[in-house]
Amino acid sequence: MMIVSKCLTGECCRYDGKSSPDPEIAALVAAGLAVAVCPEQLGGLPTPRVPAELTQSGENVLLGGGRAVTRDGRNVTREFVAGAYEALRIAKAVGADRAVLKAKSPSCGKGTIYDGSFSGKLVEGNGVAAALFMRNGIEVETR
Ligand code: SF4
Repeated sequence: MMIVSKCLTGECCRYDGKSSPDPEIAALVAAGLAVAVCPEQLGGLPTPRVPAELTQSGENVLLGGGRAVTRDGRNVTREFVAGAYEALRIAKAVGADRAVLKAKSPSCGKGTIYDGSFSGKLVEGNGVAAALFMRNGIEVETR
């Protein structure tokens, strides 16, 4: 079983109320081969929502050394971490060993995320949920 970012299935769960549809991913979910999660919604954040970026990579956010902060300065670390753990709980419940997640997201990104300055600048790092998945042996790829 695979776990996928819900916005890739065409669900409008992104911060801006839109989706990032990927027909291949939507087909996997429709065929029952993948389960879709949106960690930020699972953490209790509304849609649409003010965008957030990480001050450090997701690994450090999970360890308490970095934060998720909205563009207007609100600390949403608690919601990001709670959503990541809820997504992991679902992934484990369905026996997922692979995840296909949305690239560059502060929750779902792998390898590259925005740098926390809201200037569009990218840095090396992982989103909070992606980091938690990898820490728990789930193979993560992004698109
Ligand atoms: S990238 Fe992840 S957290 Fe963001 S909308 Fe898509 S599924 Fe939700």
